[in-house]
Amino acid sequence: MKFKFLGGADVVGRMGMTIEGAGKTLLVEYGMSPSKPPEYPMEAPRVDHLFLTHCHLDHCGMVPAVCGRDGCELFTTPLSAEVSELMMFDSLKIAQAEGYNEPYTARDVKRTMENVVPFTFGDTADLGKMEVTFHSAGHVPGAAMFEFACDTSTLYTGDIHTADQRLVRGAKPVKCANLFIEGTYGGRNHPPRKESAAKFIAKVDEVVSRGGTAIIPCFAVGRTQEVMLVLKDMGYDAWVDGMGRSVTGLFMQYPEYVRDPRALKSAKRAFSEVRGSDMRRHAAKGQVIVTTGGMLDGGPVLGYIRELKDDPKSAILLVGYQAEDTNGRMLMEQGCMAIDGEVVKVSCEVQKFDFSAHAGHDELVRFVRKCDPENVVIMHSESRDLLLPDLQDYNVILPELGKEFELEV
Ligand SMILES: [Zn+2]
Ligand SMILES: [Zn+2]
Repeated sequence: MKFKFLGGADVVGRMGMTIEGAGKTLLVEYGMSPSKPPEYPMEAPRVDHLFLTHCHLDHCGMVPAVCGRDGCELFTTPLSAEVSELMMFDSLKIAQAEGYNEPYTARDVKRTMENVVPFTFGDTADLGKMEVTFHSAGHVPGAAMFEFACDTSTLYTGDIHTADQRLVRGAKPVKCANLFIEGTYGGRNHPPRKESAAKFIAKVDEVVSRGGTAIIPCFAVGRTQEVMLVLKDMGYDAWVDGMGRSVTGLFMQYPEYVRDPRALKSAKRAFSEVRGSDMRRHAAKGQVIVTTGGMLDGGPVLGYIRELKDDPKSAILLVGYQAEDTNGRMLMEQGCMAIDGEVVKVSCEVQKFDFSAHAGHDELVRFVRKCDPENVVIMHSESRDLLLPDLQDYNVILPELGKEFELEV
C-alpha cells in the first residue's frame, strides 16, 4: 500500500493522508489550520472513500471540498459528523466575515452530510479486499481510531488520549503491524489530571471569593464540557457562552460516546446558557464564564475581556493550547492582547492550566509498546524527533509532506 501525507505530517493542523492500494484510493481526514489566513493541505486526488477520525477543524475542516466535489462516502461516527457540520458552517462564516476565499460552499457541506456512512466503535466497514474497524480514540466524544486490515493490520490513531478524562475514557491499544500515531506532545508530559483539576478549582475559588469573575476561554468541542464537568458541583453563578453550548447539546443526543451522560446533564444544568447580548451583560457580572474562543482570537470571549480587562480581581484562566501568533499567546507572554484591532493591556490575573486531550510523551510510548507494531509512523507533531530515543525497538518513519512511501498492509 502507498501512503502520502497531504498535510499534518510534521505540523499540528491541516491533516490529510491518502492510502492507495487494493484497487482503491482512500483519504484519511482532510482538515485546515484555522490560522489567519487559514492554511490548507495539498489538493486531494479523486478518492473512493473518506475516513474522518473526529470533528476538530484540523481534521474535518476541508472534508466538504472533497465530498462536495466527488460525492464520495464519508465514514465516521454519527456524532463526529454532526459536530463537524457545525464546525464547517462556522468556518465558512468566519471566511465570509474575514474576506478569505471560501474553499467550499454551503451546498458542499450539505452534500457531505448526505454522504455520511455512520459507524460506531466495534463496527467494521467491508471495502472488499480491506476491512476497517472503528475504535475509540479517547480524545473527544465520538473520536475514532481506524484499524485497516488486509493481510496485516494498520492502526491510524488520529488524535488520542490514553488517560481517562471526565468527558471520555482513554483509548485502548490495538495490536497491529503498522501504527500511525499522533505525536503532538513528543518530549512533554502532562501533570496528573487530578492535580491540574484541583489547582484549577482552587484558583477559581480564590477569584470568586475576592469578588472577581473567572473568564475561562475554551474550545467548543471537548474542553468546554470538560471544564463544565470539573466545576459542576461548586455552586457558582456560572455561565456558558459560544458554540460550546450547541456542542454540549449534541453530546447529550449521543450519550453512548460520553463517559458519564448523567454527569454531563448535571453540568449543563449547573451553567446558565447565554443567549443574546442582554444575557451577556448579566453573565459578565457572574462568577464564572466558560466561553469560546479558546485562543482568544474571536468569539464571545473578547466581549467579556473588554468588559473586565481592567479589573485586577478578575482572572483569565487558560485551559488549552495557545498557538503562536494568537491573542492567547500574546496575553501569556506580554500581558496584552488585541481587541477591536487595538492592542490593550489586561490587568486581570492570567494563568494557564493543563487539561490536554492528547496523550503525553510517556503515554504515547506506552501505547506504542502495547500495540506492538513493526513500523511506527509519527504525524501531527512539531516535536516528533523527541520520541525517537524511546522508540528504538521499532522502524520509525517520519513522513514528509507530499512524499509517498510504501508499507506492507
Ligand atoms: Zn483533535
Ligand atoms: Zn488534531
